[in-house]
Amino acid sequence: MRILIHDARLVATMDDARSRHPGGHVLIEDDRIVSVGPGLPAEPAADRRIDARGKVVLPGLVNTHHHLPQVLTRNVPAVQQAPLFGWLTHLYTIWRYLDAEAVGVAARVGLSELLLTGCTTTTDHLYLFPKGQTRFIDAAIEAAREVGIRFHPTRGSMSRGQSAGGLPPDDVCQDEAEILADSRRLIAEYHDPKPRAMTRIALAPCAPFSVTEDLMCRTRDLAREHGVRLHTHLAETLDEERYCLEKYGERPVEYLRRLDWLGPDVWLAHCVHLSPEEVRLFGETGTGVAHCPSSNFRLGSGLAPVRSLMDANAPVGLGVDGSASNDTGNMMAEVRQAMLAHRIGHDPSRWLTAEDALYLATRGGARCLGRDDVGSLEPGKAADVILVDTRRLSYAGAGSDILAALVFSPWPEPVDTAIVNGRVRVEGGQLQGADVPALIERAEAASRRLLDSAARAAGIE
Ligand SMILES: [Zn+2]
Repeated sequence: MRILIHDARLVATMDDARSRHPGGHVLIEDDRIVSVGPGLPAEPAADRRIDARGKVVLPGLVNTHHHLPQVLTRNVPAVQQAPLFGWLTHLYTIWRYLDAEAVGVAARVGLSELLLTGCTTTTDHLYLFPKGQTRFIDAAIEAAREVGIRFHPTRGSMSRGQSAGGLPPDDVCQDEAEILADSRRLIAEYHDPKPRAMTRIALAPCAPFSVTEDLMCRTRDLAREHGVRLHTHLAETLDEERYCLEKYGERPVEYLRRLDWLGPDVWLAHCVHLSPEEVRLFGETGTGVAHCPSSNFRLGSGLAPVRSLMDANAPVGLGVDGSASNDTGNMMAEVRQAMLAHRIGHDPSRWLTAEDALYLATRGGARCLGRDDVGSLEPGKAADVILVDTRRLSYAGAGSDILAALVFSPWPEPVDTAIVNGRVRVEGGQLQGADVPALIERAEAASRRLLDSAARAAGIE
């Protein structure tokens, strides 16, 4: 199957040269790109032609941090004004009623939102498993396959409950042997290390305040034994820093360094509170950062030193984070947020450009997830391509730099076309093969069930 995208207003490759081809083309053969450039390819024959006049063609975006079940607990009134620890403490009492049906519906909503806003590869961090619920990640993978997005679910975990000095209630924590056995099962069942893989597993203990040191070490060993990546939350808030100083006698990054948890196979969410030495250490060790500006603003956590991390050559990607702290999974809105965030209090020479922000959302994200086959439009790469129709009111008058306009001017949802692994998943702004109104109804019902269960339990207490 050959798909030719031709006569684009602009093809922005995000390759090393950051090449731009006005009037250019992208030629896809099966699951990979075979030609990118100006004009038409040498052999333009194709089974399908996509007329890209008026459209900007980009590599699909990469999301490096998410919690899909949080779709069902967006903007919960009790925690709209709460910082991280209070926000978590309340939401645990709701999330403890999740089941596989709710996780599957939430994943379909969250993954569809991502795809419609240009994201073709995403991770997910699922760490809360109420007693008896063991198939959450299986449900999320099933949803990803249905939506057609490239998926890196992480097997998260919590094992340090309140009785052991942790933040979460004991009933949402799991036994460590059970966590490791399920991690092994998921790797064996789903992890695909081959190029252009659609599913890869990573292991992701939740945070220093909800996981024991022992589980961190055993997870690290298991991941390295199987060649899968490691992920966790780190240095998100000053509360976490105080917790680590009190419990471990070290700062969060020192703690991870002692546990041999820094390296090119690790990417960490947030990393807001890093010292200049820690930034250098991330660059030296190749430790990646999932930068989540909207969530960090929403919870008042702070602003990660992204420009310094980029200068240190640490991998930096963007994450929408869970929809209880964003509260949207709009990937392109996150690109804009990242571009704007680093302007406050910084010299203009250090501000991120629109293209820098797009780079984080493509090549930077791919690096965090350990992929060299997505994030740019180049022959041999996976056929993950998005088209944005610029013939819209919000871009009128922005023709002098139409690529920057996608970031500076609000990105009207949705993208015109999204192709993942050579398959057209969004066309004319519509998800292919999805009944969106029915999905919204199912999500509303699942959300109500969850909130009602929590309210009933609170009433009984
Ligand atoms: Zn998170």
